[in-house]
Amino acid sequence: GDLPSVSATARTIAEAHRRYRGLDDGDIADYIPVLAEADPSWFGLSLVDTGGEVHEAGDVEMTFSIQSISKAFVFALVCQARSHEFVHERIGVNNTGLPFNSVMAIELNDGSPMNSMVNAGAIATSALATGETPAEKWETIRTGLSRFAGRSLDLDGRVYRSEIETNQRNKALARLLESYGRIITDPLDSVDIYTRQCSLSVTAHDLAVMGATLADGGVNPLTRERVVAAEVARDTLALLASCGMYENSGEWLFEIGLPAKSGVSGGIVAIAPGKAAIGAFSPRLDSAGNSVRGQRACFDLARTLGMNLFAST
Ligand code: GLN
Repeated sequence: GDLPSVSATARTIAEAHRRYRGLDDGDIADYIPVLAEADPSWFGLSLVDTGGEVHEAGDVEMTFSIQSISKAFVFALVCQARSHEFVHERIGVNNTGLPFNSVMAIELNDGSPMNSMVNAGAIATSALATGETPAEKWETIRTGLSRFAGRSLDLDGRVYRSEIETNQRNKALARLLESYGRIITDPLDSVDIYTRQCSLSVTAHDLAVMGATLADGGVNPLTRERVVAAEVARDTLALLASCGMYENSGEWLFEIGLPAKSGVSGGIVAIAPGKAAIGAFSPRLDSAGNSVRGQRACFDLARTLGMNLFAST
């Protein structure tokens, strides 16, 4: 089925924003020092449908670093450039059941990076981006994510520098993959590309447009540009359903019923295939690293707008 009427959708967004803007559960991520400067009151909700209709409430033009949400779109670009079989064999598509920066997940699985939505798998995936040099790979990723967003996205240099100085754990994950022969480039070059992609500056509106491009079978509903093939959009959403919300992906799917991806700066993108995508942003996170207000708002929107994938009516 379609979404409810335009006015009902607009009302639902405004109500969800009003309902959760006072919710102060959760904590702001501070392991990347600059993220600790976020204002916990920030809260934006955007919904973009596959017809290009936009509904928003709150801080939808506030910029923040995309963080782990970049993993979904880099996966799509690499899946497009390589193949379904390639990413399945080289990276994997099963949830680790462990936190996103887990070393144990690699050790328990014979050195496999496991999937492109955890840090190890994302670092290995960025290494597979098209380009001869790290600079070319980074440009492939920056311009590719910009096409998903329908505007040129830029690096937030403060976020990048703050993370690259403090990400010893990601560097260790990359070295561990190297020791298992599971990364095709210099591991630290790949961590650098990955850290840059995480530092791209976006808004809740951008996230909704990027997600709507996946909902629309790879075509950006605002620019009408095809960014990836329909099969790639499909495969990306399948991966998000099992791995997009880290070790809480099962609970998320059970409650909300949509493929989604979150990031530690407080963004969430949730996608209803063929219908629409939600971009949510609020910095307070639960223990798995998912925005508390963003999750609650997505729950209400999925229910009220009939977006749950598994619902027959
Ligand atoms: N750049 C962050 C990191 O590597 C992304 C993590 C996240 O958003 N979950 O730790």
